[in-house]
Amino acid sequence: MKVIENISEMRAWSESRRISGKSIGFVPTMGYLHEGHLSLIRTAKEKCDYVVVSIFVNPAQFGPNEDFSRYPRNFENDRLMCLEEGVDIIFNPAAEELYPAGYKTYVITKDISNILCGVSRPDHFRGVTTIVAKLFNIVKPHIAVFGQKDAQQAIIIRQMISDLNFDIEIIIAPIIREPDGLAMSSRNKYLSETERKEAFVLFRSLKLARLEMINKNSDVEDISNKMTQLITSESSGKIDYIEFRDANTLEAKTIAEGNVLVAIAVYFGKTRLIDNMIVHTD
Ligand code: AMP
Repeated sequence: MKVIENISEMRAWSESRRISGKSIGFVPTMGYLHEGHLSLIRTAKEKCDYVVVSIFVNPAQFGPNEDFSRYPRNFENDRLMCLEEGVDIIFNPAAEELYPAGYKTYVITKDISNILCGVSRPDHFRGVTTIVAKLFNIVKPHIAVFGQKDAQQAIIIRQMISDLNFDIEIIIAPIIREPDGLAMSSRNKYLSETERKEAFVLFRSLKLARLEMINKNSDVEDISNKMTQLITSESSGKIDYIEFRDANTLEAKTIAEGNVLVAIAVYFGKTRLIDNMIVHTD
């Protein structure tokens, strides 16, 4: 396994593999790897001859009052985990390599970027689409694997791939959870012991929504109220949003029927956690 920090070296490596007819799988991450990331790496490995993992805490996707500077980082641990998984390349560029002085270009996916997480994080998805487009141009993968954990991100990336004609197959891998059901996230590290214990109420609220829908309750407001009741009575969590959206297009659902993405964001102290579940009612 090799660590590459430089754009031209990354490009040369990928180009030579492409010329020899080999396939490249790519897993973009912000590091502080956990089993969720590893599951994406394993998926990429199954599908491709080579796997590239990028580790880059992307300043462009953090708002001015967000956690960019304190976002958890542990490169040595990440490196060992990638080595263990048989990753071929870690691409670990410096911020100045990707955003040199005078940088001016951003990729924006309209409409679906300013709903859900885009409401409380206005420029977040602009940062995500920009970095992912740049990484695609540098790593030149055949396949890229993202997690369903970030459901809105997955849909936005698919839209960008289609709109900008990237010749890359996107795979969305399932959410990996802790034994109690809390979705794994690098940000779980921020939670106090009490918050950590309470945070599994997110998954419980999603299971409650699923049960309601399975039992033919399609009243979005009623299900949403029941979820709110559960979260607020069993935890100190402050709800940012509970939303019912079409699982493919993110269009708002007025009735909870069809392919429903139930998406939630809840603050525990300063830590904002997101989770989601897709429920098929047909
Ligand atoms: P991040 O490092 O948080 O930017 O995440 C990098 C990739 O890992 C994204 O595609 C995430 O959706 C994915 N990911 C993060 N947590 C999980 C999880 N618990 N299960 C599956 N994928 C995840």
